Amino acid sequence: MVLELTDEQKIWRETLVAFSRQELDYDMTAYEKGDLFPWEAWRKCAEMQILAQPFPEEYGGGGVDFMTTMISLNALGYACKDAGLVHAIATQILCGLQILHFGSERLKQRYLPLLCRGEKVFAQAITEPGSGSDALSMRTSATKKRDTYILSGSKTFITNGPIADVVIVFAVSDPEKKSLGGISCLVVEDGMKGFEKCRPLKKMGLSTLQNGELFFDNCVVAFEQLLGKEGQGAIIFNESMEWERSLLPAAHLGTMERILEISVTYAKERHAFKKPIGSYQSVANKLSSMKMNLELGKGILYRCAALKDNRKRAALDASICKLFISESLKQACLDAVQIHGGYGYMSEYEIERDLRDSIAATIYSGTSELQHNIIARFLGV
Ligand SMILES: Cc1cc2nc3c(=O)[nH]c(=O)nc-3n(C[C@H](O)[C@H](O)[C@H](O)COP(=O)(O)OP(=O)(O)OC[C@H]3O[C@@H](n4cnc5c(N)ncnc54)[C@H](O)[C@@H]3O)c2cc1C
Repeated sequence: MVLELTDEQKIWRETLVAFSRQELDYDMTAYEKGDLFPWEAWRKCAEMQILAQPFPEEYGGGGVDFMTTMISLNALGYACKDAGLVHAIATQILCGLQILHFGSERLKQRYLPLLCRGEKVFAQAITEPGSGSDALSMRTSATKKRDTYILSGSKTFITNGPIADVVIVFAVSDPEKKSLGGISCLVVEDGMKGFEKCRPLKKMGLSTLQNGELFFDNCVVAFEQLLGKEGQGAIIFNESMEWERSLLPAAHLGTMERILEISVTYAKERHAFKKPIGSYQSVANKLSSMKMNLELGKGILYRCAALKDNRKRAALDASICKLFISESLKQACLDAVQIHGGYGYMSEYEIERDLRDSIAATIYSGTSELQHNIIARFLGV
């Protein structure tokens, strides 16, 4: 198991940190006001091959391992203030992994090069207005009719949804079997009759991330657009969650590192009662807890990467990783605001944005409560 990055990985991380500081350091205010997607930054990331990383070269990919892909997201989480952009990139990569591991050769050839180049934006649609945590109780139906599926229903909160060109839709193909082989996955393209995207939903944070509702009204999808086998949806969902619960925390750990650095600098510079505030134990303890969680987070994250790179299951580890890192990030952001006092609460210092962004991390990709349930299930309770 990897405990230390290789020299090559360190250099790649440094390259991406420098790239982010130079190319992705845009003023977030305008984007936040309009909830706009940073297209230019997206294209620059595509040019840097960030979207292409874990895919084979024959599909236009970078041909690197999962660990290196996580390092890339970690570097972006550290050096790019736009957590919405980083999340959009993670979603794109996740959709590509689903196509790579479950798609037919036709689907791989058709979609992966476009995904790697960022020419098409991808989304995965599981959550519905009536089902989130209990994802597999979804109602969207995929009814077989000759050599097609008729897709009907709606999805919500879908990342990249409002700007998506291609959506991986999970739907019920056999209502009798439901989660036990009755859910299937279809690759739907924007422009297909009966498929409608809505405008982005307003959110508390992650303002550049485009989340929205998707509607399917008797949308006819060709049989060849099926991802994996019919009824394999729950298997794809479970595998996909392992990638997602590692990719997103990789970015979050980067953000934690940035927040820690900013807070340490401030605790040394800011004086109160004639002493730096860092000399007071209640401030220093917040910093040492941040550092401890950062290092512990790395351990579980690298373990997930090692398991996935060796094509092993990582359901338990990914749940621990997601739960621990998302909750640690939220706490780190809260503590950073507190350490910065009134300045921390002001938008100018940009820490309050990290706090607003961090709250979503404990909700998407399965809430913290759900991760506790999964971990408890592994304990047999
Ligand atoms: C920024 C963002 C991006 C997202 N992106 C996507 C996406 O790309 N694709 C997609 O499909 N979905 C996406 N989602 C949806 C997300 O996965 C769901 O919001 C999440 O799974 C929770 O579902 P819910 O909102 O319906 O809450 P609910 O399931 O209604 O839960 C409400 C509360 O009840 C708790 N709860 C529910 N069941 C249990 C239980 N058994 N035990 C203990 N507590 C329980 C939950 O933890 C939560 O606190 C996104 C959400 C956000 C906020």
